[in-house]
Amino acid sequence: MNVLVCAACGRRLSEPLRLLPELSERPEYDGLKNPDGSRHAPSTVRRGTYAVDPEPCGAPYAPHPDPESYEFRSATDSYLLNGEILVSAGPRDTLVVHPEDTLGHLVHNPASAEFGCCGAPGREGPNQVCDGCGAVVATRFSECYGRYETHFLPDAVQVAAV
Ligand SMILES: [Zn+2]
Repeated sequence: MNVLVCAACGRRLSEPLRLLPELSERPEYDGLKNPDGSRHAPSTVRRGTYAVDPEPCGAPYAPHPDPESYEFRSATDSYLLNGEILVSAGPRDTLVVHPEDTLGHLVHNPASAEFGCCGAPGREGPNQVCDGCGAVVATRFSECYGRYETHFLPDAVQVAAV
């Protein structure tokens, strides 16, 4: 098993995790309420696991270069704003964990002012910081109708064996 630790201060940032060979397909949003009242989709990865996402993730977002050819795929981090398709031009190879495997290790980024309906849309840059030193380390996606994932920036964390 591994834990993710803060590259800046060495603090542990996750529960013990097992690396998955690949990121599985994202579960579809089912519209049902979760036990805590939220409506986000089921988590992409199970508790106690993590996976590398080879696709761009999170901010910045850029207009799709060829919107006519755009087909919605749940693997693509994109959204519609004022009739324009915006796709992620963010970092690749982020580390995807179940958001609840970071509880007690990460805190909300005080510089992040994004507003969501039920959770964090995750579109305005990393919204999670290290609980120890305040380094910006991850983006949590927890808005209703969206993916339910926390993505660690690959340069902000190190993997340690436990
Ligand atoms: Zn830190």
